[in-house]
Amino acid sequence: MIKFITLYSSSSGNCTLLSDSDTNILIDAGVSASKICDSLHKVGVDPCEIDAVLVTHEHSDHIAGLRVLCKKYHTAVYANSATMEHIICAASLPSGCARIISAGTPFAIRSMQIKAFATPHDSAASVGYIIEAEGKKYGIATDTGTITKSMLSSLALCEAVLIESNHDEQMLRSGPYPYPLKKRILSDSGHLSNDKCAWLATQLAIWGTKRIALGHLSEHNNTESKAYEAASRMLSDNNFTVGSDVILKVAPKDEICII
Ligand SMILES: [Zn+2]
Ligand SMILES: [Zn+2]
Repeated sequence: MIKFITLYSSSSGNCTLLSDSDTNILIDAGVSASKICDSLHKVGVDPCEIDAVLVTHEHSDHIAGLRVLCKKYHTAVYANSATMEHIICAASLPSGCARIISAGTPFAIRSMQIKAFATPHDSAASVGYIIEAEGKKYGIATDTGTITKSMLSSLALCEAVLIESNHDEQMLRSGPYPYPLKKRILSDSGHLSNDKCAWLATQLAIWGTKRIALGHLSEHNNTESKAYEAASRMLSDNNFTVGSDVILKVAPKDEICII
């Protein structure tokens, strides 16, 4: 049975588990290793059975727990070369753990087939991931300022996805952040707004995605209800019954969410 579960999801730390009967993969390790291990135990996975961590990019909310986790469990870390250079320095990652991948080139980890795709974000070379397990596709796309055609085609036909619903644009514009930071978040290499996420969710639902989790919410510029309402409204406007045609959830900051 597939487990697709966010363990942590917000601007302050991200970690997601995808498991089948053979393989356990984490996508990002952006909170402390001890917090990751606590959550893994809650969902019935022993941390020493994690086969790999797939890293999206080098920002600390995606790699904060990586070094300790790898040192303790000798977990393999997959990232593209630009991201890997940064995380070997920033997270003092033991180089023996490193596995270099390239966006667009499929690779396998045990029973799972995986492909990374580029996401426009102000980092070295940010990616999202598509993972095929037990004959179905699962997708992750957070930290993306806009929705590109290649992202869309990568995410098409996924059974379930975790997508970014970072901020309510009005809250961000009128909120306390300094102007340059607001400008960065709103840019095409920043983060995805609730409205853009709602459009993405609807597009994926049209192509058959059944389960959608909204994640990586900003703690200062969003609320769970604003993110949920934006996506739910656009899905309903396109004749989807939320809760039956499409299961829509908001991934909480530090509680597990089964996608
Ligand atoms: Zn992030
Ligand atoms: Zn980031």
